[in-house]
Amino acid sequence: MRKVYLDNNATTKMSKEALEAMMPYMTDVYGNASSVHAFGREVRLAVDAARAKVADFLGAASKEEVIFTSGGTESDNMALRGVAHALRGRGNHIITSNVEHHAVLNVCKYLEKEGCQVTYLEADRNGIVKLDELKSAIKKETVLISIMWANNETGVINPIREIGLIVKEKGIYFHTDAVQAAGKLPFELKNMNIDLASFSAHKIYGPKGVGALYIRKGTKLTPLVLGGHHEMGKRAGTENVAGIAGFGRAAELAKIELAAESAKLAELRDYLYTGITSRIEHTRLNGDLKELLPNTLNVGFRYLEGESIVLNLDMEGIAVSTGSACTSGTLEPSHVLRAMGVDPVDAQGSIRFSLGRDTSKEDIDYVLDVLPPIVKRLREMSPLYEGGK
Ligand code: PLP
Repeated sequence: MRKVYLDNNATTKMSKEALEAMMPYMTDVYGNASSVHAFGREVRLAVDAARAKVADFLGAASKEEVIFTSGGTESDNMALRGVAHALRGRGNHIITSNVEHHAVLNVCKYLEKEGCQVTYLEADRNGIVKLDELKSAIKKETVLISIMWANNETGVINPIREIGLIVKEKGIYFHTDAVQAAGKLPFELKNMNIDLASFSAHKIYGPKGVGALYIRKGTKLTPLVLGGHHEMGKRAGTENVAGIAGFGRAAELAKIELAAESAKLAELRDYLYTGITSRIEHTRLNGDLKELLPNTLNVGFRYLEGESIVLNLDMEGIAVSTGSACTSGTLEPSHVLRAMGVDPVDAQGSIRFSLGRDTSKEDIDYVLDVLPPIVKRLREMSPLYEGGK
């Protein structure tokens, strides 16, 4: 059976190059990067080289602005908790949005229990944070604004540059969860008003369990993980050297591939969307094609349960999801789609297609052959469907 993987926002297949970069550090080159002897120094050089590659990929002003973590979740935790704790004396108000990943939302809920006040901005019908609301939510106690760059479920892109400008005028820290934007959108962090940004290697064809937090020089942050003086005193723990080396190589390739890959993915994504809408009635695009990541399409199939579409496609070798990998299986309608005002029944029938580096036109043609009969069959069984009237 043909296998088609369209769940690249959940994770990507690690590239051969990233694996090759990791291998020495899982076998012969095993020193501790903190050791002063030759074994340690060799590994320290590898960590520093990877840091330089990630910094270059992000367009950071220096490699010291990149701190390695265990992934996007830890980076989000570190940014939010780190700033909230460091600036406690100055203010206790945080602004975020109601379409964030749970790695941000659940940290905000935790910080509320610690006495922080959190404003959850509402997204508009297209899933974009409203700038007017953002401006009016700012108060003198506001210390941090955390708005995701691009949404993992819908691919919707927020106006991060504009938010940076608003925040800069007010002297408030700005964090963005850039886990999904990385490798899909071009940017240079040094030219943007962003103080902190979260990244994850496994979303850019690197290994799982490693990520980074960009911390602009001078940003005050209390460390989350305490211990030794690793990562310039900002994140204790012996470095995951192999993972870091793989991340460095993945970042290097992502930078080289970005323009061509995004153009190819956008073309295939549009081909998929046109194919779906011309073959299947009663669909809804969640988001606006003009403001979407090039690889992502979130489509609602009215009258259906997303889970049954996912399972039926899975039986045909096609991997898609109903939304975030962290919440799938809960049968809860997506908080992101609900925040966009999508009817809960329509939200239940929404599917995320996330294309990747290996996706081909033949893969999309296969999906366009297989999906319409599945939707037809499921609708015929659906109590909600009476010919769509
Ligand atoms: N933030 C966003 C937007 C994500 O999509 C993800 C992963 O799905 C994360 C954070 C968490 O990243 P990680 O899996 O590296 O912890």
